[in-house]
Amino acid sequence: MPGYAMVIDQRRCVGCMACIVACKTQNGVPPECFRTRVVEEVDGVFPDLRMELRPELCNHCDSPTCVQNCPTGASYKRDDGIVLVNRMRCVGCKACIAACPYGARYIDPDHGYADKCTFCFERLEEGEEPACVSTCTGRARIFGDLEDPESEVSRLLRGYASYVLLAGAGTKPRVHYIRKFGKPE
Ligand code: SF4
Ligand code: SF4
Repeated sequence: MPGYAMVIDQRRCVGCMACIVACKTQNGVPPECFRTRVVEEVDGVFPDLRMELRPELCNHCDSPTCVQNCPTGASYKRDDGIVLVNRMRCVGCKACIAACPYGARYIDPDHGYADKCTFCFERLEEGEEPACVSTCTGRARIFGDLEDPESEVSRLLRGYASYVLLAGAGTKPRVHYIRKFGKPE
C-alpha cells in the first residue's frame, strides 16, 4: 500500500499559477473556489526585502481534524493517505470547513457538498500524477510514495531540511515544504 505525499520545493516555484489553472480544469472547480493557491510571503524591512512563494493545498493530514469533526462519516481517510469526501453521506453542514486549520475546504455551490483537493486520485488510478504536479513549470511540486524509500519524495525529505504548515496543530500533514530562504519553521 502506498503512502502518498507531496513535497513542495519553494526554491523552484516561479509563481506562474499554472497549478491553479490545471487544478480547476481537471476538477471542474467553480471560479470562486480553490483547491490550491500560491501564497506570497514577503520578509524583511525596506529596502532589504525578499519574497517566497508557497503553494498550498489540502495536506491530506494523518490526524485530520476534518475527518474527526465530520458528523456523518462523509469525510474519510484512505489507507494510501488520501483524505476524501463521500458526497453520498455529506449533508453540507460545514463542520469540516470549521475544523480544518488550513482553510483547505469549501462548499461547492454547484452541488452543496464539501469539496477540496483529492490528490487527483482518478489520475493516480490511470498511472498519472496530480494535475498540478504534471503542469508545474518549475518542477516545484513533487508527488510520490513515502513508503518507497527510493521515491523522489523520500529522497528529498532525506536530503533536505523540510517543514509542514502549522506543525503545532497536531494534524500531521502529508504536504512537506523545502524553504527557499532561512531555516525550516
Ligand atoms: Fe482535512 Fe484540512 Fe488536513 Fe485537508 S488540510 S486533511 S481538509 S484538516
Ligand atoms: Fe461532513 Fe459534509 Fe458536514 Fe463536511 S459538510 S462535516 S463532509 S457532512
